[in-house]
Amino acid sequence: MTDIICPHCDSKEGFYTKEQVKGTATPHYTKNGHYAIENGHIYDSLTHSGGKRAYCIDCHKYIGKSEDLISGLLEEEVKESV
Ligand SMILES: [Zn+2]
Repeated sequence: MTDIICPHCDSKEGFYTKEQVKGTATPHYTKNGHYAIENGHIYDSLTHSGGKRAYCIDCHKYIGKSEDLISGLLEEEVKESV
């Protein structure tokens, strides 16, 4: 996939979407009352909606449909395979 470049400011920093998040989170705490490290599960019970429009990270202008821009890969995974 070619780099996504903002048509407004030529930025290659990437883009963001705006999603509405709904649901109940159940964060875990340790016996000391500390916020537990393993709290990734709290996102599993949340539902996302929206996020169809992508905006430039630098100039915040609309750059296109997120479904056309999102690769479906994680940045972590891509870096490991290089
Ligand atoms: Zn931009």
